[in-house]
Amino acid sequence: MAPRTPTTLPIGAHVDQTDPVAEAQARQAPLVQFFLGDPQDYKGPQVRYAGGAAALKEAAEAAGVDLYVHAPYVINVATTNNRIRIPSRKLLQQHMDAAAEVGAKGLIVHGGHVNKADDPEKGFDNWRKAIEATDIKVPLLIENTAGGDNAMARHLDRIGRVWDAISTAEGFEQVGFCLDTCHAHAGGNALETVVDDVRRITGRIDLVHCNDSRDDFDSGADRHTNFGAGRIDPDLLAAVVRDAGAPVVCETPGGPEEHLADFAWLRERV
Ligand SMILES: [Zn+2]
Repeated sequence: MAPRTPTTLPIGAHVDQTDPVAEAQARQAPLVQFFLGDPQDYKGPQVRYAGGAAALKEAAEAAGVDLYVHAPYVINVATTNNRIRIPSRKLLQQHMDAAAEVGAKGLIVHGGHVNKADDPEKGFDNWRKAIEATDIKVPLLIENTAGGDNAMARHLDRIGRVWDAISTAEGFEQVGFCLDTCHAHAGGNALETVVDDVRRITGRIDLVHCNDSRDDFDSGADRHTNFGAGRIDPDLLAAVVRDAGAPVVCETPGGPEEHLADFAWLRERV
């Protein structure tokens, strides 16, 4: 698929899960991202939309709003710790099923990490096993993360190793990439080249999480902020969005008002 031109780039936001369609409409956004339940625990997904999953799917289709589901932060399918990896795989499948039920265009999951003393090789292989074990019903988008010494998807070389490992797994063609600008910057990846660098590895960027960063380059900190309020060069932020040519989710602070300001800021520059 050819990259979209800037004027047709869909831009939306991460929103509250109670009524994602209403949240999209409040922002005049063609897409939104949300959690299904509490992102910090291992309880299965919850659909808080009043009518349930099927009603949410129907309402989103009627409104022309694309839905993206962000998997819980606690999921870490890479870890060598069985007590985390096994429930993580289960939770990933549960969210995959629920994402499919609401008609989501993608399920976003963080790359995870292995423990400090672990051989990262184990983490790459655990990713392969996770892809093999998951019944992938909607595109699974692996997101780069900002911090950690033994992260799977902070540095480009590690992302490359994850991709090498999963490329032979059944279901791989349904695996994509979500590029987070705050995480790339804080993780120490040059935004000047990150789109090309990632594409060289993955062949695709399916979604951009566009966020400014409260922290410096390579700080390892994951604190998002509104555009122009952080440490990322505005032109670079816009260039990443433009070059990626993928739908954009702003995971920036605030409600409709702040997000509309962020969308306008971005549209002015891409
Ligand atoms: Zn993100």
